[in-house]
Amino acid sequence: MNAPAPEGCSHLEAADSRTAAVVPSGHGCVECLKAGGVWVHLRLCMTCGHVGCCDNSPGKHATKHFHSSGHPIMRSFEPGEDWSWCYVDELFIEPAVRPAR
Ligand SMILES: [Zn+2]
Ligand SMILES: [Zn+2]
Ligand SMILES: [Zn+2]
Repeated sequence: MNAPAPEGCSHLEAADSRTAAVVPSGHGCVECLKAGGVWVHLRLCMTCGHVGCCDNSPGKHATKHFHSSGHPIMRSFEPGEDWSWCYVDELFIEPAVRPAR
């Protein structure tokens, strides 16, 4: 499906026009792995590949990553889930943003 970018989100286009695939930082939340924490779901930053945990997780590291880095678009890092989220516009994007390969 080639739906046009949802209105109001200018960040999607930037993420969409990437020329390199995002390389995930690891198989789990970066901060939780360091601290020995646990997570519920994982989110992948579409700007730098940071893997962080969702807001249902104690650490909320994906949201913290957005606040510290300003990277607007995350996508689900869960198998079978296909959606993205723009923190700036608070916009749910489905199917997920896919970096060009
Ligand atoms: Zn946006
Ligand atoms: Zn975490
Ligand atoms: Zn990032």
